[in-house]
Amino acid sequence: MVFLRDGDLASPGEPICVAEEYMPGENVELDKGGVVVSILRGRVSYDNKRRVVRVEPLKFVERLRVGDKVLAEVKEVQDKIAIASILSINGRLIKHPRTAVILPNPGMRKTMDQYVGIGDLVVASVVTTFMGIIGLSIWRQDLGVVLARCDKCSGMLKRVRRSLVCVRCGRTEKRKIVPQYGSIAYLISMMG
Ligand SMILES: [Zn+2]
Repeated sequence: MVFLRDGDLASPGEPICVAEEYMPGENVELDKGGVVVSILRGRVSYDNKRRVVRVEPLKFVERLRVGDKVLAEVKEVQDKIAIASILSINGRLIKHPRTAVILPNPGMRKTMDQYVGIGDLVVASVVTTFMGIIGLSIWRQDLGVVLARCDKCSGMLKRVRRSLVCVRCGRTEKRKIVPQYGSIAYLISMMG
């Protein structure tokens, strides 16, 4: 019997699976009932070949705090949210990028693709880390897209007066940009 799936978040003492299914590995222990439980907060990882289960500690999530400023790359744009991969925190690059969710502006009427696009680099603020889900906001004046890519051809979008134009195909697109849009110096300052 498996209680938590691969990649699920486990809390200390939380049952993961029965020992008949998977042997206990790192950061787990066997309780009296033969159930493998987590000893810390982290993500469940099953090794199906060796039939071993372990928990990877969520060091990063614990280090990430509400109010931190992050640089992230947009991976997926949905109707009201976007999925992004965090590349740096407070001006320091991180080793293992973490997935986060760009949350909608309260009362937002337009869809998220009017503000960010896939491949864009955005500066965002962490607004929640509840249950290990990193929620980001880009709505403050100093937050938003630093460098954007064309939705059609992935070319760089250049700022031309109040709009963004693709250097490759000439397409015009909309983004929620930072005042320093397109500044490589600003991007470098965000990466440390
Ligand atoms: Zn283009």
